[in-house]
Amino acid sequence: MTQRVCILGSTGSIGVSTLDVIGRHPERYSIYALTAHTQVEKLAQQCRGYRPEVVVVGTAEAADALHKLLAGTEAGRVQIMHGPEALCEVASASGCDTVMAAIVGAAGLPASLAAARAGKKVLLANKEALVMSGALFMDAIKASGAVLLPIDSEHNAIFQCLPENYDGQMAQRGVRKILLTASGGPFLKRDIASLDKVTPEEAIAHPNWVMGKKISIDSATMMNKGLEVIEAHWLFSAPAESIEVVIHPQSVIHSMVSYADGSVLAQLGNPDMRTPIAYGLAYPERIDSGVSPLDLIKVGQLNFKAPDFQRFPCLDLAYQALGAGRSAPTILNASNEVAVQAFLDGKIGFRMIDQIIERCLNQIEIDSAHDIESILAADARTRLVASDLIAS
Ligand code: NAD
Ligand code: MG
Repeated sequence: MTQRVCILGSTGSIGVSTLDVIGRHPERYSIYALTAHTQVEKLAQQCRGYRPEVVVVGTAEAADALHKLLAGTEAGRVQIMHGPEALCEVASASGCDTVMAAIVGAAGLPASLAAARAGKKVLLANKEALVMSGALFMDAIKASGAVLLPIDSEHNAIFQCLPENYDGQMAQRGVRKILLTASGGPFLKRDIASLDKVTPEEAIAHPNWVMGKKISIDSATMMNKGLEVIEAHWLFSAPAESIEVVIHPQSVIHSMVSYADGSVLAQLGNPDMRTPIAYGLAYPERIDSGVSPLDLIKVGQLNFKAPDFQRFPCLDLAYQALGAGRSAPTILNASNEVAVQAFLDGKIGFRMIDQIIERCLNQIEIDSAHDIESILAADARTRLVASDLIAS
């Protein structure tokens, strides 16, 4: 039996890498559904190559455009749906076993959660979903018996280094600390005073990874690492003080677990997301991912240093939001999404990103975030406040 896969966000960086790995193992995997927001031509090409049963696009217009592109071809037999509800529908459909959750940002939350509730094997790249709904999401996984495999490279590394059948009992299992590595992004050494002048092009140019625009900016501010601290907290039941960020500019060690006996286990590899994706797809087996073997002699050196919160205030804000709990991580995430988009659109400078997030965290009332409705309401409220701050 092949594993039937639904890829939420198939036209993105993670989506394309997932299709690349799947294409290497046609005997193991078939595509049930692909989804894309606007890139209809790219999706049409993926339909010709991978022949999904269903696709989901953002709007009725995009659905029409896709229909025309595929008309009269074999691939044209695909069922075309559109809109956010359709995303939840394919993510929980009986036609698929495995869901790759790779939509960027809060937009991915409802469908990622739907996959968790439906008991799928969930390959989670969409870290923002977990940041917003951590308790709810992990409860849904437990209640449905879903298998959750982290795709974010750091969390995938930690998952690989933790004891087998890790149950979240850090102390009992002899786990002392989680060491989350960070490249430090493109501005690790840049003069702090000049940071407000950096352009979106400079900020997107990550030294080690090729990724979508939003996560690339998050890497430059180190909000990405902040979101990952919160993600690690939920995935591994780790208190904030047990999660330490270590700057490691080569991005060869993807993260580590430190044990009570003094052992530190690390997972290493070339920085290519196809490794964690292949791990998730094949778990608990191992398959070829297309990633070349790591040549340590060529790497030569591995360096480490502590993060500088003055240079990277977003990392500090994320620890604060995690400490405050409840809807604070949702406020952090939503204000960050709005500020990053404004920076990409040339409306604000780079350093305004952290200032807007800080103001939103101080200004907006933190509530219980106990269900999906209240989480989405906190997200919407924050977007309004952040947009107002940007406009003024
Ligand atoms: P991307 O921007 O390249 O792709 C995003 C995908 O989401 C696209 O397919 C797009 O069509 C879809 N999408 C965007 N907005 C949408 C909306 N409103 N509704 C429905 N679909 C929408 O992003 P990416 O770099 O592939 O990242 C995807 C997720 O994976 C993010 O949460 C990111 O943090 C996480 N992640 C990415 C990497 C990486 O190397 N790219 C690494 C670790 C984690
Ligand atoms: Mg990561």
